Amino acid sequence: MKKETRLTHQRKVLLPDGNEAIVPPIYRSVKFTYPSIEASLNPEVRHTGFEYTRDANPTTRQLELLSAELQGRADGVCVASGMAAVWLSLLGNLKAGERLTFFVQSYRPIRTLVRNVLPRFGINYSMLDVHQHDDLERVFAQKDTKLLIFEAPTNPMLRVPDIEGIASLAKKHNVTTVLDNTFGGLHNHGQFEIDYYVHSLTKYASGHGDVMGGVVIADEGRIKAMHELATSIGSTMDPGAAYLILRGLRTYHLRHARHSSSALAVAEYLAANPLVDKIFYPGLKSDSEHELATKQMDGCGAVLAFNLKADKTHTWAFIDALKLFATASSIGSTESLVAPVKLYFAGDLDEQELKQTGIKDSTVRLSIGLEHPDDLIDDLEKAFTKVFN
Ligand SMILES: *Cc1c(COP(=O)(O)O)cnc(C)c1O
Repeated sequence: MKKETRLTHQRKVLLPDGNEAIVPPIYRSVKFTYPSIEASLNPEVRHTGFEYTRDANPTTRQLELLSAELQGRADGVCVASGMAAVWLSLLGNLKAGERLTFFVQSYRPIRTLVRNVLPRFGINYSMLDVHQHDDLERVFAQKDTKLLIFEAPTNPMLRVPDIEGIASLAKKHNVTTVLDNTFGGLHNHGQFEIDYYVHSLTKYASGHGDVMGGVVIADEGRIKAMHELATSIGSTMDPGAAYLILRGLRTYHLRHARHSSSALAVAEYLAANPLVDKIFYPGLKSDSEHELATKQMDGCGAVLAFNLKADKTHTWAFIDALKLFATASSIGSTESLVAPVKLYFAGDLDEQELKQTGIKDSTVRLSIGLEHPDDLIDDLEKAFTKVFN
């Protein structure tokens, strides 16, 4: 064999029988083959085997099965980002002439796709308030209403929907439910009768802010039906990304618990601060949705929002004065982040909608990282002193 040929047909190092890597390797290969065409047509091989990574890949498959198990469902489809997962859940369930319901309190990119993009494909929408179940039932009763997409808790204002109440209304009217459970986390909300869960794996699952991914999770039949669409859209998760997310998940429970306890400590500090007008963190006893949140979920996560008693200029100065919080979108990774909520997440809302969501010029969102909470509180205290003294 000439050396050129050797380079394309390299010797493989195969492990002896019974000798296994403790951390499974990344399958970076795009293509998979069989010893014969006949072997590739075996029905069992067609079900569990691999051909082309856009369709399925062993590393990505490992993540699909693990995330589905954490969420308490049978199967999942991994895609390149959280938004790709949102799109897949909607395109897989809606067609022209049908109506989608969602809440004004949603994550801005979801509002944008529902209000600006889906209507181009003949899909109508009703935008409601997360706590107005009467309105929800009225829209669910309309013949064309097919699907509800909602978040628990909501991004960025941490409002907590009554998932059981909403899911039972949806069942009654035969409306498909999609829960964007990114803020809840993979270990939460599996006990409810939700049809599809979507997650941005970019956040708590990967946890280190260095990789993007998303997943749609449901029962076996629903995922099987959605798989072909995912393959055809080509929103494939790269196996290297799947590997990093699998690695991040090993410490998921430890991180989530620490994010939650530190966020609570910061929330308690802010709640006692006279410069804070209102705080939104369901883990806080004084939060109007504390009881519902603690009944529904285990750990309220890293994110909290609050309104300062300040105008926009002082709010931005306060954000700029923080040293341990980087000003950035995203949540749920090791480092703490801060965001001006109206500027980053509410540019599409009119005055009335801003009022409904409680978002003001003075609204600040924090994602609490894995630093020591005392240092974060100290940093907040210094910013208060610098800007307001
Ligand atoms: C971040 C986020 C998304 C989108 O995830 P990406 O991975 O950034 O595409 C969707 N829903 C919620 C609630 C999010 O916080």
